Amino acid sequence: MDQYDVAIIGSGPGGYVAAIRCAQLGMKTAIIEKYSTLGGTCLNVGCIPSKAMLDSSHHYEDATKHFEEHGIEIPGEIKVNLEKMIARKQSVVDQTTKGIEFLMDKNKITVYEGIGSFKDATHINIKKNDGKTEEIEAKNIIIATGSKPSTLPFITLDKERVITSTEALKLKEIPKHMIVIGGGVIGLELGQVYKRLGAEVTVVEYMDRIIPGMDAALSKELTKVMKKQKVKFALSHKVKSVERKGDQVIIKADDKKGQEVVFEGDYCLVAVGRKPYTDGLNADAAGVKFDERGKVIVDEHLKTSADNIYAIGDVIKGAMLAHKAEEEGTLVAEILAGQKPHIDYNLIPGVVYTWPEVAAVGKTEEELKEAGVEYKAGQFPMRALGRARASMDIDGFVKILADKKTDEVLGVHMIGARCADLIAEAVTAMEFRASAEDISRMSHAHPTYAEAVKEAALAATDNRALHV
Ligand SMILES: Cc1cc2nc3c(=O)[nH]c(=O)nc-3n(C[C@H](O)[C@H](O)[C@H](O)COP(=O)(O)OP(=O)(O)OC[C@H]3O[C@@H](n4cnc5c(N)ncnc54)[C@H](O)[C@@H]3O)c2cc1C
Repeated sequence: MDQYDVAIIGSGPGGYVAAIRCAQLGMKTAIIEKYSTLGGTCLNVGCIPSKAMLDSSHHYEDATKHFEEHGIEIPGEIKVNLEKMIARKQSVVDQTTKGIEFLMDKNKITVYEGIGSFKDATHINIKKNDGKTEEIEAKNIIIATGSKPSTLPFITLDKERVITSTEALKLKEIPKHMIVIGGGVIGLELGQVYKRLGAEVTVVEYMDRIIPGMDAALSKELTKVMKKQKVKFALSHKVKSVERKGDQVIIKADDKKGQEVVFEGDYCLVAVGRKPYTDGLNADAAGVKFDERGKVIVDEHLKTSADNIYAIGDVIKGAMLAHKAEEEGTLVAEILAGQKPHIDYNLIPGVVYTWPEVAAVGKTEEELKEAGVEYKAGQFPMRALGRARASMDIDGFVKILADKKTDEVLGVHMIGARCADLIAEAVTAMEFRASAEDISRMSHAHPTYAEAVKEAALAATDNRALHV
């Protein structure tokens, strides 16, 4: 039987990063993945393919709607070849997952393909795809089995017309009318992809706003911009049935007055969140305990109820984000090596890759109000930037929230072009506990979108933004 210092179950961004860091720290490491490609949800059916589709559809929208304003004329009709678009997405996924294979090889990590299940706290049975089983032994085990799409109890996901994000990334036709249940990150990103490609898109959301966990000002602005893009929203609507009739889907919901509203389309994307995935893991046999939502219970060192078993990523509490899973993978590897690492969960940024992009870190205004923290806010509109006007990406703003007395930055919320990248400045500043004045005194290259961060900091410091 092969023996390891550490075995990791699941090769998503949590698992594969944990494996690399364990190997870097000198541990004999194995990783077990049930699929034939490594990289988990993120690389195969999540972050990477969705961004590939967002980029392709963005190019199409630019070509059909914006090139002309730039003085670019394309004779003849511009058409979408969806099959080719999806094939390109797949080749991006293939390159990326192969990259993980290379990294496993480079770091001398043994990869097992098959379903890992606990025999006891130190032994894992691996049921391989050819039906054979193999047992390995490991001193320490990391559960990184991730998540899968959740649904509502009355919905039958037929995966043809009533679909999850996984199927939405490989449709064979552009929907005529896609009804998206859920106004969270995944629903909005994929809804925007198909809207750009020509579908009618209606987002039906239970809460009274989209991206409910983010600062309310971001929800408001994104709703406004997406409405301009002709996405329809039915907020405060409680979906009560989803029925397929031939090639049609019929969704019934109650609005906030309790009146029934019927939506008809040809595809229904169910994007109501994700749930932890531990099917077949048999973690009980190792003494691992779960909470009422099926998440593995861990302590502050991400240790489960079993002494030598840790859990990371989507399968435990906290934001379901690839970079959160990666940080946790690194943290556990370093703990196993006897180090004392730390993650500041307040500084894990959240991003929505719609266009305009939405990004945030730290506390929202709603959270500060609820906690009774005295704060000041500085906001700067993207439209006041030369760079934004040059590219005609004028929607959005940057908002900085700082402590009223100390001026320490407590939260940064932004919507606009390239905010997914701009948020890194805010994370850096907050990691070093910068004040709004610190940011406002740093030189920001001109003309860039980053100038909006400096201007928002000036606005927060003393209400002295320069360009409004
Ligand atoms: C459409 C979509 C878009 C997304 N976009 C983003 C984004 O832009 N940015 C972002 O940060 N996050 C994004 N996410 C979320 C992100 O994908 C997840 O947070 C991340 O993948 C979680 O990583 P993980 O390592 O915990 O688990 P996963 O990536 O889910 O990986 C778990 C792996 O474990 C394997 N596994 C499970 N059980 C077993 C077993 N018993 N034996 C062997 N293998 C097993 C699974 O097959 C899987 O490969 C997106 C998700 C979706 C669905």
